[in-house]
Amino acid sequence: MRPELLNCLFAEAESLKGVGPGLTRPLGRLGLERVKDFAYHLPDRFVERRAVTSLDEASVGEQVVVALTPREYRASGSARAPFRVLAEDGAGNVCALTYFGRASHLAKKQLPLGETRWIAGRLDQFGQTLQIVHPDHVAEQGGAALGTLVEPVYPLSEGLVQGRIAALVHQALGLLPDLPEWIEPGLFAKMGWPAWKDALGLAHKGAHKAARDRLAYDELLASSLALMLVRNANRARAGTPLKGDGSLRAKLSLPFGLTGAQKRSIAEIEGDMAQGAPMLRLLQGDVGSGKTVVALESMLIAVEAGTQAALLAPTEILARQHHATLTRMAAGTGVNIALLTGRDKGRARESILIGLLDGSIHICVGTHAIFQEAVSYRNLALVVIDEQHRFGVGQRLMLSQKGQNSSAGRRTPHCLAMTATPIPRTLTLAQYGEMDVSRLDEMPPGRQPIDTRVVAAERIGDVVEALGRHVAGGEQAYWVCPMVRESESEDIAAAEARFAEMQQQFGGDVVLVHGQLRPEVKDAAMERFASGQAKLLVATTVIEVGVDVPNATLMVIEQAERFGLAQLHQLRGRVGRGSGKSTCLLLRGGALSEVGRERLALMRETQDGFRLAEEDLRLRGGGELLGTRQSGDTPFRVASLEQISELLPLAHDDARLLMERDGGLTGERGEAARLLLYLFERDYGVQLLRGG
Ligand code: ADP
Ligand code: MG
Repeated sequence: MRPELLNCLFAEAESLKGVGPGLTRPLGRLGLERVKDFAYHLPDRFVERRAVTSLDEASVGEQVVVALTPREYRASGSARAPFRVLAEDGAGNVCALTYFGRASHLAKKQLPLGETRWIAGRLDQFGQTLQIVHPDHVAEQGGAALGTLVEPVYPLSEGLVQGRIAALVHQALGLLPDLPEWIEPGLFAKMGWPAWKDALGLAHKGAHKAARDRLAYDELLASSLALMLVRNANRARAGTPLKGDGSLRAKLSLPFGLTGAQKRSIAEIEGDMAQGAPMLRLLQGDVGSGKTVVALESMLIAVEAGTQAALLAPTEILARQHHATLTRMAAGTGVNIALLTGRDKGRARESILIGLLDGSIHICVGTHAIFQEAVSYRNLALVVIDEQHRFGVGQRLMLSQKGQNSSAGRRTPHCLAMTATPIPRTLTLAQYGEMDVSRLDEMPPGRQPIDTRVVAAERIGDVVEALGRHVAGGEQAYWVCPMVRESESEDIAAAEARFAEMQQQFGGDVVLVHGQLRPEVKDAAMERFASGQAKLLVATTVIEVGVDVPNATLMVIEQAERFGLAQLHQLRGRVGRGSGKSTCLLLRGGALSEVGRERLALMRETQDGFRLAEEDLRLRGGGELLGTRQSGDTPFRVASLEQISELLPLAHDDARLLMERDGGLTGERGEAARLLLYLFERDYGVQLLRGG
């Protein structure tokens, strides 16, 4: 149960004055659902204005506060033309206050002729005249205007304006309780940080580094603590020590030898599974590095030891593909591998459930459906989770507990998580701090480098032509439409439009896949593509994860500059999977930022996912806002990438010390730390303390 002290922070957004049903959606898009979310809705930046007594002191482009007296209204004939109020400062300089659209009515009311007003806004020049377009504030009193010298600029969504958000944030800040300090006293004093409540107040008032750092530190500490609690709880659990005799693995007929990295990873996994405490291991390996066969060998160890294994995939498509691949590879072993997804109903489903319960099915591949209430295993001892980044720690935890749903008793299965997102080392600690890590840092031999080129979007006609030749030559291609617009449905509309154009060009050889298609439609499309019937797959980023079609050797990515490096890398990894030469064309829009340019250059230069991940961190740390909330992102809301690099090691050490001294979190600081865990919704950590 959440401590009562925090209840006011967890009250719904609607409990704030002025929030009705109409606002909940735009607020929800910003993640503003509870009172605490508003307090933590930190400004992107601040407008800093300077108070001047005459316009002579100000320069064009500057944000100012100045007293002006309106002298004349100047409306022009056409409705489109702006409405201007000519006003004068104390020294007789003239400045136009310019309003577009239907704001003239308001302007006249706010700016009566001959009466001095305080105006806040950005001073611009229009021809020979000075002007301020849509002043931010118009006040009768100097004092009120001077109160706006430093003003926060908040992230917005459609249907919201700055003033509204600012007022709600202000209300939320007024509701904050005083909380006991959870930061280690020595560190707290040394850093000179403000107390929690003060830090939140300050962070909204100006660019206050100590306050922002403190808030980021809190989040990092909460995360580190929670991961440590998970880790400790896992250590204390009973697992099943598994020893395979190698008999099934010997019967595998792989068309290739394992890489050194694969052998090393398998050995590490085998070592973990032989222990009494359940394994919690992350297998990190770039797209194409060969994680599937590592998963298979691990699952065979479990089967050799007389138990069952399950492989959880994030999507239906991937579950099917894994099932097909594993069945093919394990053909000579006599191991029974079943597929279970949410779509299986009736008899088919029944017979799988029976097989899982009586143990005649050794390996079960599927989506979330494999951990539903009704699914029981005879003796599940290993769970493999593919494409880990789709699942947060909380979900990982839930899955391993579901895994206990086994008639062999309450033993926790070993857990192997796999991710193709080669995140940088600092972030590995942040995201997977509770796990041990194996890295597949070596590609299988014989891979051809992917020829990557950047092409201006105007040349799309040439690209389609090249695509035509490619397809005519018998090879397949992907066409990726970006996620860029306000809503998912707009993105899908864009993808559908592109699909229609491609169909005109290439007839029935084209399929479309996106997130809003019904699963069976999506699978049918994927199957047509995978079998080679369809030559071109048009998709939104849903193909990002794991699809394997070796004959697809061309990838076109529209508006590539919109994607983060990590994501581009993931997408590109869909090609270059066979022995043929592959090409990736990155279409770029006209307005390319410096960072965008650098990103695309890096994509051309290297195919090393770990390097791209480090570079991605560096580039995004440079303050680029666009794209920061894309997949492969950090699990943090407050802490910036820079703060993570700086403060996470401190938080990690602090958390470890606290756990050593007060592992049950029962002391004074421990109690405060519990509040912290709830505050950042890492309270599954606290749950573990109870459940043991
Ligand atoms: P990942 O899941 O890591 O992206 P996959 O397991 O799908 O990669 O493997 C990619 C491709 O490489 C598959 O076609 C697989 O058969 C092949 N492969 C895996 N290991 C090796 C190896 N040691 N030598 C050659 N090919 C391999
Ligand atoms: Mg894979």
